[in-house]
Amino acid sequence: MRRTRTLAGIGIAAVALLALTACNSGSPTSPGGDTGGGEDSDTPLFEVAEGVTLEGSPTYDAMVERGGPIIGVKEDQPNLGYLDVTTGERSGFDIEISRWIAASLGFEESDITYEPIASANREQALVNGDIDYYVGTYSITDSRKEQIEFAGPYFVTGQGFLVSADSEMTEVNDVSDFNGMTVCSATGSTPISNIKENYPEINTEEYDIYSQCVDDLLNGKVDAVTTDAAILIGYAAQDPDNLKVLDGLFTEERYGVGIPKGDTALVEHINTLFTDGGDTWQAIFDATLGQSGIEVEQPAVDPVG
Ligand code: GLU
Repeated sequence: MRRTRTLAGIGIAAVALLALTACNSGSPTSPGGDTGGGEDSDTPLFEVAEGVTLEGSPTYDAMVERGGPIIGVKEDQPNLGYLDVTTGERSGFDIEISRWIAASLGFEESDITYEPIASANREQALVNGDIDYYVGTYSITDSRKEQIEFAGPYFVTGQGFLVSADSEMTEVNDVSDFNGMTVCSATGSTPISNIKENYPEINTEEYDIYSQCVDDLLNGKVDAVTTDAAILIGYAAQDPDNLKVLDGLFTEERYGVGIPKGDTALVEHINTLFTDGGDTWQAIFDATLGQSGIEVEQPAVDPVG
């Protein structure tokens, strides 16, 4: 019996996502950094809301009191959550989604504090109140929901594999194709759990962040990096001479916005933004992840609870 399911349920969009990796050899593109600047223009992707009220959200109250949100993000994932250390500019789909949420709550870009948080530490950061919300390739799972809330999903992808460009492999038929090999992923992530729980014959290497796995792959210390295809595509685009994403997607990763437990008012606010946001989701996508040629549809949000 197969122990993971493929993305049949997600269908064409996911397949298209993989099919397009081969021709995606450009470098990752970053949209304008300020308040959601578009790629080729100064037109903002969204406006900062005025006269906002949000009853019953302790997280919103804390943001107002502080004068801005503290947002948990990734900063080593090109096209998703990325920090350019030379310019200090953050870019990517998740970053723009996080800015859109802040703007909908009445906050300017200059009001935002970004806090880089690794996959393994996300729930605890929310439980501790270190961040107000988290936007960073964060899959909605039942076990995480025991500690936190999720708004969304706002994106769907699946687990894939990144290998050296000179590897003879071109596709993955089953995750067990990696039996006897060493694959690397991030501690506390859904892909490393999938491998460790279901594929005991695969050797694993773990780091806090995926870019360290990519370094190990480039140095020949591991055979593959595994995580969401959306993330892997960004690494391959950065270094197409040395890296490639294999065909084959496993699991369904539905990205949500992590919110402190019990703050359903904030969850509902964000879900309403996603649902009633008109063309903004598409504009954000087109300016970021969509630059690599991926075509996907915005998913419907989950009911609260
Ligand atoms: N989406 C997966 C997760 O939430 C993998 C990516 C990540 O580690 O952020 O675990």
